[in-house]
Amino acid sequence: GQRRPEASSPFPQLEGRHPCFSLTAEGHASSGRLHLPVSPACNITCRFCRRDFNRDEWRPGVARGLVAVDQAVDVVRRALDLCPTISVVGIAGPGDTLCTDHALRAFALIHAAFPDLINCLSTNGLLLAEKAEPVIAAGVGTVTVTVNAVDPALQAEISPTITYHGRRLTGLPAAERLIANQIAGIRRIVALGGVVKVNTVLIPGLNDRHVETVARTVAAAGASMINLIPLLPGHEFADRPAPTAAQQARAQAEAARHLTVFSHCSRCRADACGIPGLTDYADALYAARPAQD
Ligand code: SF4
Ligand code: SF4
Repeated sequence: GQRRPEASSPFPQLEGRHPCFSLTAEGHASSGRLHLPVSPACNITCRFCRRDFNRDEWRPGVARGLVAVDQAVDVVRRALDLCPTISVVGIAGPGDTLCTDHALRAFALIHAAFPDLINCLSTNGLLLAEKAEPVIAAGVGTVTVTVNAVDPALQAEISPTITYHGRRLTGLPAAERLIANQIAGIRRIVALGGVVKVNTVLIPGLNDRHVETVARTVAAAGASMINLIPLLPGHEFADRPAPTAAQQARAQAEAARHLTVFSHCSRCRADACGIPGLTDYADALYAARPAQD
């Protein structure tokens, strides 16, 4: 049986303050998050991911347009006017948040203007270890690292290429580098006092029987929570099935042997604004801004 979430939260200070680090129904319905789409580029290729600018699709990697770093504080201020329960500013794309310096510059400005907001960074982890000090210095308290496999052969099937310090790597060398950097990055963030959640995109036939190994490995590195995100079939994985409810439940049970499992993910857009799954104010927030296309 599952332990009571209240009793098992590894970070009770975030319960009710960060919707995606809360375990109770009340906890993730009582505070909001703003996703600021400031990060344009990515340094790896995930075969399920197609970044896009539009108003309609509700999925990660999509935003109405980019927000410039020097507009970030103004967008946060307007978002707080629209949705005063926002307690978290997250940067989750539309590309990788550490591939360019936009996210850390935006976070530093936001942290100076709104020191009580929780800054939350999502990354693929390729550059997390080497940027861990500036990440924490920019006021980031919670970090989400997407780790889809810790077996290089599987990882190479999911993200076949990376660009690392100007070099393009493919196949197993790319996967080995990415995995090693993700684990080192989680260790470094935790050593500096950050809280780490791992997102794993659950891809039937690829990593659905591998999530326990992922959970065990990232738990040993210091991660506190795992979020198994069901694949939204798309891009090069358009013909793969989404996980069934039974596959999702089994994977969650296997991951739960090692980590607290977050199971309320709404697979949000990179410009979401409000309480995940309940409210979204992004249309009003960006009403004066044309969609970029
Ligand atoms: Fe897309 Fe994120 Fe993968 Fe980059 S790391 S390709 S933005 S899913
Ligand atoms: Fe939270 Fe999931 Fe939305 Fe990220 S994508 S803000 S983890 S609900």
